Amino acid sequence: MMTAKEIRESFKKFFESKEHLIVPSAPMVVKDDPTLMFTNAGMNQFKDIILGNATPKCRRQADSQKCLRVSGKHNDLEEVGHDTYHHTMFEMLGNWSFGDYFKKEAISWAWEYIVDVLKIDPKDLYATVFEGSPEEGLSRDDEAASIWEQFLPKDHIINGNKHDNFWEMGDTGPCGPCSEIHVDSRSEEEKAKVPGRELVNKDHPQVIEIWNLVFMQYNRKADGSLEGLPAKVIDTGMGFERLVRTLQGKTSNYDTDVFQPLIKVLGDLSGCKYGEDEKKDIAMRVVVDHLRAIAFAIADGQLPSNAKAGYVIRRILRRAVRYGYTFLGQKEAFIYKLVPTLVDEMGEAFPEIVAQQKLVMKVMQEEESSFLRTLENGIKLLQGVIDETKAAGKSEIAGDKAFTLFDTFGFPLDLTELICREQGLAVDEKGFDVCMQEQKNRARNAAEVKLGDWVVLSEAESEFVGYDNTEYPAHIVKYREVQQKKRTAYEVILDKTPFYGEMGGEVGDSGVLVSENEEIKVLDTKKENGLSIHIVDKLPEHPEAEFMACVDVERRRAIEANHTCTHLLDEALREVLGTHVEQKGSLVTADGLRFDFSHFEKVTPEQLREVEHIVNAKIREDIPLKEYRDYPIEKAKELGAIALFGEKYGDKVRVVQFGTSVEFCGGCHAQSTGRLGMVRITSESSIAAGVRRIEAITGKAVEETLDKMQDFMADLKGLLNNAPDLMATIQKAIAENKELQAQVDEFKAQKAQQLKQVLIEKAREVNGVKVIAGVLPMEAQHVKDIAFQLRGQFPEHLLVVIGSEAAGKPALTVSLSDDLVAEGKNAGQYVREAGKLIQGGGGGQPHFATAGGKNPEGLKAAVDKIVELAIG
Ligand code: ATP
Ligand code: MG
Repeated sequence: MMTAKEIRESFKKFFESKEHLIVPSAPMVVKDDPTLMFTNAGMNQFKDIILGNATPKCRRQADSQKCLRVSGKHNDLEEVGHDTYHHTMFEMLGNWSFGDYFKKEAISWAWEYIVDVLKIDPKDLYATVFEGSPEEGLSRDDEAASIWEQFLPKDHIINGNKHDNFWEMGDTGPCGPCSEIHVDSRSEEEKAKVPGRELVNKDHPQVIEIWNLVFMQYNRKADGSLEGLPAKVIDTGMGFERLVRTLQGKTSNYDTDVFQPLIKVLGDLSGCKYGEDEKKDIAMRVVVDHLRAIAFAIADGQLPSNAKAGYVIRRILRRAVRYGYTFLGQKEAFIYKLVPTLVDEMGEAFPEIVAQQKLVMKVMQEEESSFLRTLENGIKLLQGVIDETKAAGKSEIAGDKAFTLFDTFGFPLDLTELICREQGLAVDEKGFDVCMQEQKNRARNAAEVKLGDWVVLSEAESEFVGYDNTEYPAHIVKYREVQQKKRTAYEVILDKTPFYGEMGGEVGDSGVLVSENEEIKVLDTKKENGLSIHIVDKLPEHPEAEFMACVDVERRRAIEANHTCTHLLDEALREVLGTHVEQKGSLVTADGLRFDFSHFEKVTPEQLREVEHIVNAKIREDIPLKEYRDYPIEKAKELGAIALFGEKYGDKVRVVQFGTSVEFCGGCHAQSTGRLGMVRITSESSIAAGVRRIEAITGKAVEETLDKMQDFMADLKGLLNNAPDLMATIQKAIAENKELQAQVDEFKAQKAQQLKQVLIEKAREVNGVKVIAGVLPMEAQHVKDIAFQLRGQFPEHLLVVIGSEAAGKPALTVSLSDDLVAEGKNAGQYVREAGKLIQGGGGGQPHFATAGGKNPEGLKAAVDKIVELAIG
């Protein structure tokens, strides 16, 4: 039996023998495509080639691509664990032809590989072909069908509809029919009962799709119509885990050597045995599946967070924790303990997981623990809701409450229902659905973007000339209209552009396009599928004219300085803190920079100073920029250039060097370090377990900060009559103030004694009780002292009721001697009642209670009220 590792290798070897270039998997986290958060298919990394924005280095390529299907168009999350063949993260084996071979080779090679090489029995195989679509004007894919007929009997070739057999990249763009290969792995007995062809694409767990061959031959336009694609593309994707399961004769992906080692360790950890209890099995599958997704996402640079891609990862982790908590009895962080096994199993094929193991474990452990605390709170909250619902005599908890639990605590409806059912309650599912729908609508409205078709003016390629120029003559190649949130903007592509498109943490350039008779503002520049897209507020009247493309130079220089500064900081941080420091994210703008890096404790103020000093020394050295463009990646590595984890690099790279700082980088940089002027670190904080963030400013921003500090000092001095020694003057003022405060306290205490005396003199006897009552202008704290002194002085038959006011705030203080309390009198009850008269409330014990309020006018009446309540 072939192992998973051998199967992965055999795929690569097979397509190598068919003259394919074997390329590495792209990172699973997509960094520079605003339309996609995670790689969800093998073709993602070839999007710019398929769209015609880039030329492939080889027309035939193949790989094993890490994919994640947890958001957007492909979202399998809710299936995972419940079935045995959908994963969040999985490997997709694929082969591509970019304008080279087409259907004939794609189908015959797929057949040759799985039947001749891997020896899957042809009688278990079925192929689907596109049945055609009259409304699109498309007929059946007879071309594909006739090729299949060379290998399969006709009753193993099945027509499929648009949903299953017509693949589209998005609302617009390349698309075409596809053919899927399905495997029937049921027992002979079952096969005899129901023929496999009846179960294809029917969600039967033993008759599953393993390979999809996509034949891209059309381009979908914004109006929905189709046109022919000039360079046809073959794009295939085969689920690696499904293939392994078929070859290892299993009926579940989790029974293969891809998952068994993880399941075994999880079993040892939790004391649960796989295969004995369906609920526990589901939970174990969820945990081992999600573990892979989370670990690889973190290794590729996506930390869990509360927004966008980070939030998706956080939710996957929470789903796993919840299953572990509910079904495997795991009340403490445990998933991170499986990481070493994962590294053993997959580290060879994916070295990034080996390199990032420590960080991955640390981040997971922290996330798990913090969510477990949330979970405990959520369970308490739910118990509160259940109690309230029962008290109100209802049998169903409200849908919006269930939704809050889902939204904030990650409680899916079924968990809430489970807990409620145990206590005899139901959940208003309709109400829940309404809340869910409302939230989805809100999200959709916020995100909806309508893209018009490109209006193409010329076939010229677009070239970035902005490393050397900030002004350049250019022509518009194409433009389109974009509508978002009812605002219209235009996207423009130039043949030559000095504008840097936002990428790698560096913001895009802004500026103007100037022609003989008009000027168009460039608001921002983005990079999408390899193209620099200029966002402009209006279209030129004469789009075909020649323009001078002018970048806002002052802004660009500030951005460059900050980008160069991140490189110098990166190096200085490694020098001061150690070589475990690795970049985990960065943001470079004109105003400053943010730099996230792995480090496991707070950076001390002394260390930050040292880092600043190192960088400032390099700035004064005025080290010139040395740049290597289109440099072979191997030679770049020899230079010792630092690469980023989770970044996709081609064969040719750009390297940016300032003396000893050497990094792979595509960004814009200062011509020499002197241009930075000076650096100042403005903050240091933690953004996740094991990841610190520093923020810093350079050049003019430092100058402005220093100006502000100096002005502040000058103001301060002015305030202190230009005292020559500011420090001594302030220290003296503090000491004086302290002494004065002590005197004031003493005077207040004396005054309290006097007032107490007056109260005693004015005391009256009512029904044998000494009533000491009145309103005093003082703080409640002092009144409390007086009340306790009076209690000591007159231990029996005593009622003290004092209204007081300080700084406009009224208060009531009531105290009773113990004998009155024994009679059943209660100070707390009186203040609660009388507190209303001063628009406030309070409480306390039977012998002593206080109330605060808002209306001092009511104090007298409140005091009288209490006397009346107590002995009236
Ligand atoms: P299915 O209908 O089974 O969900 P699909 O139509 O979504 O599959 P494609 O988008 O065509 O699948 O992806 C190509 C191949 O990738 C599939 O044939 C399958 O082998 C594999 N695959 C797809 N989704 C998953 C998943 N969530 N987990 C594991 N493998 C998958
Ligand atoms: Mg699917």
